[in-house]
Amino acid sequence: GKVLVTGANGYIALWVVRSLLEKGYSVRGTVRSESKIAHLKDTFKSYGAQLEVIVVSDIAKDGAFDDAVKGVDAIAHTASPFHTKATHPDELVVPAVRGTLSILQSALAHGAAVKRVVITSSTAAVVYPTPQPRVFTEADWNDASMRAIETQGAAANPVEMYRASKGFAERAAWKFVEENKGKIAWDLAVLNPPFVYGPVLHEVSDPEQLNTSMVDWYRNLVKGAKTNEELLSIAACWVDVRDVGLAHALALEKPAAGGERIIISSSVYNWQDWVSAAHKFDPSLPAGNVPYDPATAKYHVRYDNSKSQQILGLNYHTIEECTVDTLEQFKEKGWY
Ligand code: NDP
Repeated sequence: GKVLVTGANGYIALWVVRSLLEKGYSVRGTVRSESKIAHLKDTFKSYGAQLEVIVVSDIAKDGAFDDAVKGVDAIAHTASPFHTKATHPDELVVPAVRGTLSILQSALAHGAAVKRVVITSSTAAVVYPTPQPRVFTEADWNDASMRAIETQGAAANPVEMYRASKGFAERAAWKFVEENKGKIAWDLAVLNPPFVYGPVLHEVSDPEQLNTSMVDWYRNLVKGAKTNEELLSIAACWVDVRDVGLAHALALEKPAAGGERIIISSSVYNWQDWVSAAHKFDPSLPAGNVPYDPATAKYHVRYDNSKSQQILGLNYHTIEECTVDTLEQFKEKGWY
């Protein structure tokens, strides 16, 4: 079979492409400009013609993917802006929502062979402020960020703008499927990862130019960018990028993933958990808040990942595995 992967040059997308190629699928990747083709082709040169890369310059345009979807059996839509520098919600919401609707519309009109569409959403579309510690599930929706954008517009926090862009895009996708039930021969699976960390396959000139999640990881583990207080107080959930790549391939294959929203999350963390793992691997890296007793760590937000284990059968990498593999790679690249 052949799979279309949008935003194929992104951090997560390269691991999606790799999982698909390893499983024997042919891949057609889309990128925004010619200059982004070479690194992809070079990374996967051993697969030869099994990987094709095409340019779709503006994903928000109607019909943008009309040619791209022709002849593919499935689609993984990953392209969407992830940064926290927006000054207006439209910078994120327009490409997120219109890009999603545009690929679904093209799949409807021209994707005669398409059987499954997988969309990379986020726990940003799931989690919302909670006074008490809480375990979030696929039943939860982050309406708070969407409301914040509707009421505050450009005055909203850029992080809220990003979260809302993921919520609006995912909502739009489910609505499209519902409204076109009788007309589509494919079904939709949505993946909701929290922060994604781990080894890097995409093109990065310098570690300070890493994508939004990994630049933080790099600064905190290698550069000691967080204060001792922040290392303990900033807690979240994470998943290894290799597990995210595999999850996309599995979500395309498993019949039971059809019509499902699936949280793919490994575990909770605070930054000290990562710093401790890094320091253990290489004592020349920052030690952080010593002595640290993990038993006293406070984690406010957790995700129930049982659905991912039941439907996809995922086995998640641990913080220690992710840290060692990523730092070994960073060392090889001369990034620290
Ligand atoms: P990257 O920034 O590495 O990749 C983003 C991809 O989307 C790139 O191919 C990029 O193209 C493309 N893209 C960005 N903005 C636009 C736009 N306006 N029009 C068309 N294409 C665009 O980030 P990630 O790999 O981290 O993100 C991939 C997906 O995963 C996104 O949907 C993101 O929301 C989601 N996600 C990421 C998490 C993380 O922690 N990294 C966590 C949860 C979800 P270009 O290179 O040309 O800009």
